[in-house]
Amino acid sequence: MVDLPKKAKAAVWVKAGAPVEIREYPVVPPPPGHVLVKIERANICGSDLHMYRGDAFAGMPLPFAFVMGHEMMGSVAALGEGVERDARGNTLSPGDLVTFSYFRGCGTCGVCLSGREYACFFSLISIVSDADEAPHFKGGWAEYYYVRPGQKVFKVPEGVSPQLAAGCNCALAQVIHGLRTVGLRYGDQVVIQGAGGLGLYATAVARKMGASKIVVIDGIQARLDLAKEFGADEVVSMQAVPDAKERTSFVKGLTNGGSDVCIEVVGRAVAVNEGVRMLQRGGRYLIMGSINPRDFVKLDPSICVTQNLTLYGVCLYDPICLGYALDFVREAGHKLPMDKMSARTFALTEVNQAIEAADALSNQKTTALRVQLTMEGR
Ligand SMILES: [Zn+2]
Ligand SMILES: [Zn+2]
Repeated sequence: MVDLPKKAKAAVWVKAGAPVEIREYPVVPPPPGHVLVKIERANICGSDLHMYRGDAFAGMPLPFAFVMGHEMMGSVAALGEGVERDARGNTLSPGDLVTFSYFRGCGTCGVCLSGREYACFFSLISIVSDADEAPHFKGGWAEYYYVRPGQKVFKVPEGVSPQLAAGCNCALAQVIHGLRTVGLRYGDQVVIQGAGGLGLYATAVARKMGASKIVVIDGIQARLDLAKEFGADEVVSMQAVPDAKERTSFVKGLTNGGSDVCIEVVGRAVAVNEGVRMLQRGGRYLIMGSINPRDFVKLDPSICVTQNLTLYGVCLYDPICLGYALDFVREAGHKLPMDKMSARTFALTEVNQAIEAADALSNQKTTALRVQLTMEGR
């Protein structure tokens, strides 16, 4: 065990839209089955912003304050009794760099028992938990984190930087899980709606999975240029082709009458109606970016029936995808311009400025997509 401080800092959400508070909580040795991780890096993800504003909770006021953050990595500070290895059987020791799934299923419901822990309701709500309840450190924007039994820990492979490893346990693992779910096969043509973090990762992963043609659609030219560097064959600017019908026929032209797979990672419901029309008969559509409740779309379901389309929605991921994400970054991280996605890095104590900076990114016409927190210098 490395020496533990008596107390450490955590960024705590108190009320929707109110400044996040830096609070101190006691640090104690991890209980049996737990891993105490000293967080090094954490990202501000789009869904963190939804939680910050409170719109992620769909009108249900949260009865407690919670430590924010779910995309993070760090080093093992101490292992609880009974924990010796990571999810892939590698020996764990204090000081090892690790990342881990940020959720855990109940383990007993029918969904968990069928092996789909990511679809368990408890997995979703386990992301936020009462900060005043020990062991307090249950969010990524903090100096420490107690990984609880049921969460899967993965050792960060050598050669993977903390900056890149931090994005693995949400964005990249999510994309890999999504593409596996939609059944992407060698030779498939893929249309990706949105060139944000998920879209760029989806482009690179689809390429590696054997997609024969990848078309990426976005409104920001710099991001489309970056999508090409991530492996897109064709990019479609929403500025150049602003009309949805025209865009659909343009994409159909690029894909010989329609793609096999279309992926929504733009976070706007209206994209769904457009995306299903870009598929060829028998195509598969994946909804992965639309997390805003009450963002509706008018859709003619007879298209899905008469054209034999399949629609998938995914949230969270099969934990094995976190291992695949780390392997992907180890192999491809130095070949892809991943650094172009990162915006600024802030200290934990500057968390409110970091939130503001992350919020402003969506309006900027750049490729900067990720704001990171670093826990150094405490
Ligand atoms: Zn995330
Ligand atoms: Zn369950």
